Amino acid sequence: MGYAHYEITRNGEKIEAGYGVATVCEEEGCDEKIDRGLGCLCGKTPGGDEHGCGGYYCGKHLNIGPTEETGDLCDRCYANVEREAVDA
Ligand SMILES: [Zn+2]
Ligand SMILES: [Zn+2]
Repeated sequence: MGYAHYEITRNGEKIEAGYGVATVCEEEGCDEKIDRGLGCLCGKTPGGDEHGCGGYYCGKHLNIGPTEETGDLCDRCYANVEREAVDA
């Protein structure tokens, strides 16, 4: 199985993912065309993980991860990680 097309479960819902799957940025009001590849993923694991929500975002709405561990993050998850870092 390659990375072009696969199925994941996100919030209890099965969705198609992979760089072969065309979609639009999930940021509200943004309709930038992207794909559901790892390069557009918030976090490191499709479907979401500890730090990322598993959403797919365009280059404008996906921030280069604050650390290697988190992966690249959307604005909300990025803010969460920064808040946690302050609280810790
Ligand atoms: Zn996110
Ligand atoms: Zn966007």
